[in-house]
Amino acid sequence: MYLGCTVWQTSTAGQTPNNHTKRTMSTDVAIPEGKRLNKYGDLENLDLTVEDWMTRWEKKHIGFHKHEIHKLLQKHLDTILNGRKQICIFIPLCGKSLDMKWLADQGHTVVGVEVSKIAVKELFAEQNLSYTQEPVPGIPGAEVFKSSDGQLSLFNCDMFEFSSLIAGKFDGIWDRGSLVAINPSDRQRYAKLMTKLMANGCQYLLDTVAYDQNKCAGQSCNIQLIETTDALTDRQRSWGLDSFIEQIHLVTLKTDVDSCAFMEEHKLH
Ligand code: SAH
Repeated sequence: MYLGCTVWQTSTAGQTPNNHTKRTMSTDVAIPEGKRLNKYGDLENLDLTVEDWMTRWEKKHIGFHKHEIHKLLQKHLDTILNGRKQICIFIPLCGKSLDMKWLADQGHTVVGVEVSKIAVKELFAEQNLSYTQEPVPGIPGAEVFKSSDGQLSLFNCDMFEFSSLIAGKFDGIWDRGSLVAINPSDRQRYAKLMTKLMANGCQYLLDTVAYDQNKCAGQSCNIQLIETTDALTDRQRSWGLDSFIEQIHLVTLKTDVDSCAFMEEHKLH
């Protein structure tokens, strides 16, 4: 299958393409079925696998990483806390987000899940945190990295292998960048898993970059849009966009149900 402007380039006009033909970003390349050429010039799967994510970390293709505490988290932390102090906060698909140490420094217990070991190690190294590293009973091959003060635990595993059996349920959740990272076919599974990780009274702050407010009511979860902000920067302009809206939602359990179908019900894509 050929996509977009991508066809085999011949090194000399009129020559037949062959296996030695050089492929570059600026010229034309063949894109196999089910793959795309990403903005770094690499072929990757249309639905990113955990291996694709690990490769992105190896190649430092981590444009999503912010070098500052997320402003909307700072602004809305009180919503997560809801009057409580020193709560247990979950950060799914955490990367090496600076938000985690910022929360831990305020006395909260922070638990993250990240599939890339590079990301986990970089977080501890860049934050100058000493840590212990142990296998996780119940998840073959997984490891938990714990800061020496015990405030921060990062589980290095696939999110879909994580559950409340591993680290209990959480009082608060800060979720930024997961919905775009999770493949559409996994969103229902993700929503169900996240709901099972919510303790009663959990305040779940969900950051998305595209969301239809009219589709925002769920049967088993309350979803409230609490902030919409213009997040357009040169990075998004370089993707050809002239509008990029970031939104913060508060998700709370309506009842202590074990299934939250809000993303499926409301076609949150
Ligand atoms: N929340 C972070 C990172 C968002 S990017 C931030 O705000 O910076 C998504 C992250 O999820 C990447 O670091 C990627 O390696 C990780 N990831 C993708 N799929 C995953 C999975 N199935 N399980 C665990 N981590 C995953």
